[in-house]
Amino acid sequence: MTEHYDLLILGGGSGGIATANRAARHGARCVLIEKGPLGGACVNVGCVPKKLFWNAAHMYQCAQTARDYGFTPLLGDFDWAAHKHARDAYIARLNSRYGAGLADNGVTVIAGHGRFVDPRTVEVAGSRYQADHIVVATGSRPVVPDVPGAALGLTSDGFFALGARPRKVAVVGAGYIAVELASVLRQLGSEVSLVMRGAHLLATFDPMLREGLTDAMTTAGIDLLPQRRVTGISDTDGALNLLYEGGEALGGLDTVLWAVGRAPNTDALGLDKAGITPGAGGIIEADSFQNTAVPGIYAIGDLTGRAALTPVAIAAGRRLADRLFGGQPDRRLDYDLIPTVVFSHPPIGSVGLTEPEARERHGRDAVKVYRTRFAPMSQAFSKEPHRTAMKLVTVGREERVVGLHIIGEAADEMLQGFAVAIKMGATKKHLDDTLAIHPTSAEELVTMR
Ligand SMILES: Cc1cc2nc3c(=O)[nH]c(=O)nc-3n(C[C@H](O)[C@H](O)[C@H](O)COP(=O)(O)OP(=O)(O)OC[C@H]3O[C@@H](n4cnc5c(N)ncnc54)[C@H](O)[C@@H]3O)c2cc1C
Repeated sequence: MTEHYDLLILGGGSGGIATANRAARHGARCVLIEKGPLGGACVNVGCVPKKLFWNAAHMYQCAQTARDYGFTPLLGDFDWAAHKHARDAYIARLNSRYGAGLADNGVTVIAGHGRFVDPRTVEVAGSRYQADHIVVATGSRPVVPDVPGAALGLTSDGFFALGARPRKVAVVGAGYIAVELASVLRQLGSEVSLVMRGAHLLATFDPMLREGLTDAMTTAGIDLLPQRRVTGISDTDGALNLLYEGGEALGGLDTVLWAVGRAPNTDALGLDKAGITPGAGGIIEADSFQNTAVPGIYAIGDLTGRAALTPVAIAAGRRLADRLFGGQPDRRLDYDLIPTVVFSHPPIGSVGLTEPEARERHGRDAVKVYRTRFAPMSQAFSKEPHRTAMKLVTVGREERVVGLHIIGEAADEMLQGFAVAIKMGATKKHLDDTLAIHPTSAEELVTMR
């Protein structure tokens, strides 16, 4: 027998769970299909374990600063296995909390791999589920390059499963996951090389952020290796060698970490049975209302190939549920001005246009940029203080703020409130008219000249 629902959600990660809960609260009968632990990439192998690692590395950094403040050394060695044990337990708690939340809202959860049979029907282990509306939210997975010996390397999934600290690591990649994992490994005591295909890390970010992070990572002792085209991995008596074009190699490694991008989980969904033709790289194209080309089938989150971030997947799903079941026919996600943080050391916060993007879009002369660079007060006693850099990108005579970029201590926590102001159309004068909170680093954002 085929069970019928108002809404079927394929994938119980950030986007899928948010959609199911919101739709169920609007009164829809929902079924959610998930083949792994609830919570998806973010909870299990993404934001959450990454941030717990970041917290550990941050504590180590604070302990270094504490010495300058008169404390005797505070921390011993980092017990990787104990950290993993605590982390796994925390994630298990989150998994069951998600299950309880869905149950409270009356969402039926089916464990297993779902696959379309036709545009209204999905099959899981021989059982069929039909719905008037189907949301595809199956996320993405790390890419492993097609080079000899690639399987000797790990991806971010494998990184979180490591039971002990790697001694000597090559992280291959230059995006935010690559720099975050390289930073954390270095802070926690590994010898780290960051191997990049291009000339820069974080290529899409404002140049001030790229340059600041390049300096900080170099100072931290990370070996940045730009313009290396990796051709494979070989194994010499248990030690790994990362091979580059031109015959060069980086040897003596115990871990190679691939962080070279993510691919949408769309290849095993039977999309042809649903009448969906995947777009470039396997993404499912969706319009600004998350509609796919097939009426009644929607796509949200990483697999749409747009802004692969948890809050984006959640917001897209909730707004879709509001539109389908909450009587809000115009509700949709605005993909402009998405704030984002890179949990590097130091962290980066960024929203809106980079300076080059603003000049290209609005014309060179219409753009006015304010910047500052300073040592935060926490570094007052340090001989080699960490620096913070900030940039405001404004446009037009009214100096509307179209971009804000911060690298430095607490950038991760500073950005959110400013993102609200920018979304509301803040101008430089609004910032000037806002009283500073003293002494903080954030006050620099309202006192720039
Ligand atoms: C290392 C790392 C760090 C990250 N850090 C951050 C961060 O700091 N901040 C941030 O905002 N974002 C971060 N992200 C990105 C974030 O995790 C994703 O953008 C988010 O999880 C996407 O949500 P989603 O719903 O599209 O997919 P997911 O949350 O991945 O959920 C997809 C779910 O679908 C399931 N699934 C797949 N195929 C099927 C099938 N056929 N049947 C049933 N179930 C299926 C999967 O098992 C998975 O649970 C990070 C990602 C990684 C990898």
